Amino acid sequence: MSDAGSHTVWWQRLRLWWQPAVDFLFPPACLVCGSSPGDGGGAFCDACADQLQNAPGPHCARCGAAVGPNLVTLSSCGHCHGDHFAFRRVMALGVYDGALQTAIGRGQLVHGGPLMRGLTDLLIADQLTEFLAEEFDAIVPVPQDWQRRFFGIHSAAETIAERLSERLQRPMRASILRKPRPTPPQTGAAPSIRREQQRGAFEVPAGTDLTGARLLLADDVLTTGATAEAATRALRKAGVADVVVAVIARGLGVSSVRAARME
Ligand SMILES: [Zn+2]
Ligand SMILES: [Zn+2]
Repeated sequence: MSDAGSHTVWWQRLRLWWQPAVDFLFPPACLVCGSSPGDGGGAFCDACADQLQNAPGPHCARCGAAVGPNLVTLSSCGHCHGDHFAFRRVMALGVYDGALQTAIGRGQLVHGGPLMRGLTDLLIADQLTEFLAEEFDAIVPVPQDWQRRFFGIHSAAETIAERLSERLQRPMRASILRKPRPTPPQTGAAPSIRREQQRGAFEVPAGTDLTGARLLLADDVLTTGATAEAATRALRKAGVADVVVAVIARGLGVSSVRAARME
């Protein structure tokens, strides 16, 4: 009888033998264009990966917006100057536009999981040094309301959080943040309306002790920051010490806080 160790060795040998056959029959393909993926073993070919990373270079350390090399500061940029966020910073792969916007739209569909995981891998690769410099106790997806969960609607935020958890080796804790009621669709709504709609939309279950926790909050897109702000406020009320937001794309709209001031 073989023990567990030799069983593993045989399994690995078998995989060595059959993997080329699997690749021959079902060649890996770029999840955007279907051509052969790059040498890095990622989900996209090199040309598509370049298009998806549509804002190379420096990002604002606070709101995640792409900024020119001369505009980098540690505190803010033109997109977030004067805003008061409850989260400390946003990490984003690129701008919500072009190929990245299209890919996120497909990633939000029922079978979009592999695409969202691929985009999350790109985000981690793009900002690896900064991810490794942070210390997170857990990763939390921005939750869906119960109606969406009931109908089994795929949660892009949860897929992103799962992948961040796997790659950064930190636990995912989806249960510490809930969205008890649905909120109206945000597309097209004025920033101040969005902020009002999201206020109080999230809650931490009673009895959850989050005192001093440092969390990474995951979502697919951050535009005005109204959703991430409402989620962060609920977490902070439960004692969370620090929240960093990770998103695939940063939509460059007018922030909710500034819009409210302009009215
Ligand atoms: Zn491609
Ligand atoms: Zn900024």
